[in-house]
Amino acid sequence: MEDLIRELPKVELHLHLDGSLRVETAIEIAQEFGIELPTVNKEELEDYLQVSDDCDSLAEYLKKFEFALKIMQSKEALIRIAYELVEDAAQENIKYLEVRFAPLLLTESLSKEEVVEAVLTGLQRAEDDYDLEVNLILCCMRHQDPSKSVEVTELAINYLDAGVVGIDLAGDEANFPPEEHEQAFQLAKGAGLHRTVHAGEAAGADSVRKAIDYLSAERIGHGVRINEDQETVEIVQEQQISLEVCPTSNLHTNVIPNLEEHPIKDYYELGILVTVNTDNRTVSNLTLSEEYIALYNSLDFELSDIEEVILNGVKAAFISEEKKETLINEFKTEFKRIEAKYKS
Ligand SMILES: [Zn+2]
Repeated sequence: MEDLIRELPKVELHLHLDGSLRVETAIEIAQEFGIELPTVNKEELEDYLQVSDDCDSLAEYLKKFEFALKIMQSKEALIRIAYELVEDAAQENIKYLEVRFAPLLLTESLSKEEVVEAVLTGLQRAEDDYDLEVNLILCCMRHQDPSKSVEVTELAINYLDAGVVGIDLAGDEANFPPEEHEQAFQLAKGAGLHRTVHAGEAAGADSVRKAIDYLSAERIGHGVRINEDQETVEIVQEQQISLEVCPTSNLHTNVIPNLEEHPIKDYYELGILVTVNTDNRTVSNLTLSEEYIALYNSLDFELSDIEEVILNGVKAAFISEEKKETLINEFKTEFKRIEAKYKS
């Protein structure tokens, strides 16, 4: 079954560029640009970029991004890292991908426009070389002044027809509530940008409600904790707000004690539009295929459930209805072909 799952066409909607760079690439870029790293030994550097099993909070998890951000301050680095991430996704048969990152964290020597253009260049080059479509989401950061979120939104609007499809709110959820960034998200909505918000991860259902009410979130990053309030569960269900669930990441940030207790199966059975994502490939040291295999092994998802969750990803994607329909038809044909191949 594991090989079959790896072969299925997939979609990934919640993937941070700065949490997903190859460790070898980090070392090579650091050496090329004279950036000081704690070590140039690959295995030792992995300890700095990946979480260990005793990571016990989102705050500790977010520390893992410090070195990545140091390396990502040049055009060459951004083009390469963006390209390689799409390449990694293509290798596990991801057919549609949304990559996200916070442009204002990468402006030590580049302008914010140069940052976005370099990432778009890397993504588009990989799109030309591989058979998948990629779009970009720009992240506003919770700890930054709300005016910075407006700045990120204006930046996203400038690239709306050039590969940027939406904005996100990321960072320290426990200490910075979503409503402070209302202006940016309403600006985004008015301009036709899609909106997703990290919520219900380090804070509870109330944070998800605020993301929907104040930020007009169409999707929620994680949303694991919606079950703390029945009304929130119903709103998410009725309004078809999709959840970008990242089970292993939730384990690493200590939102759940073990994978078996992740509520994703309950949400799926309630008809909530759950999708499955890695969040940060390097930080959590995993692939999307492994995440689906974990659903199968630890959470009693059958193959048909896994295929349904993959199709949820298409339905929740920030693409046109026509593209969704095309992808859904292609995926269904592929599912049948792959299943038949493994039966024989
Ligand atoms: Zn995330």
